[in-house]
Amino acid sequence: MAHDEHDHDHDHDDEHEHAHPHEPDEEARERAETEARRRLALAQIRQYGDPALRLIAHEVEDFDDDLRRLVDRMIMLMHEAQGVGLAATQVGVLRRLFVFEADEEGPRVIVNPVVVERGEETLTDDEGCLSLQGVKVPVERSTRVVLEGKDPNGEDLRLELDAYGSRVVQHEIDHLDGVLIIDRTDDEHRKEALATLRPRAVLR
Ligand SMILES: [Zn+2]
Repeated sequence: MAHDEHDHDHDHDDEHEHAHPHEPDEEARERAETEARRRLALAQIRQYGDPALRLIAHEVEDFDDDLRRLVDRMIMLMHEAQGVGLAATQVGVLRRLFVFEADEEGPRVIVNPVVVERGEETLTDDEGCLSLQGVKVPVERSTRVVLEGKDPNGEDLRLELDAYGSRVVQHEIDHLDGVLIIDRTDDEHRKEALATLRPRAVLR
């Protein structure tokens, strides 16, 4: 899932500018490097039109070093792409796991996640996706979910999430079933999104 653009809007008042420890040149260089890393990460994430995004992922059976290496790579890609969640299908691995970072708790991972409880209350809000660049559509989600699954070592894991975290994990679980945000939005927004995505899908 993609970061909300609002998160990048910082107020640049004079006081803040003067307090900044970096020279303007260095700041510009760092910004350019962060942007280059974001583009490199996105190039490694499957984009709309890629069949992997529409396939159903299989349960993970082996909790081995390969799995832990995959998790490390997914967390790195999520960070560099400036996302808040990334499912294995988005890197072309059809296994049921995803990483996410919805709050200050840092990056988290769940393998073979299952929704065991879903709150009745729902909320509709805009969502983006690292695989659907330039698209943001309203999606209705439960404001509270409880997931059960495993950690990368095969130990039982239970996650209780509300608010933003609940939205993020429902988005990522959808990826494991080949479901995208354009499937969850209304007709009008779907049409708009497809108009944004189609030219790029053809040019691939
Ligand atoms: Zn996504």
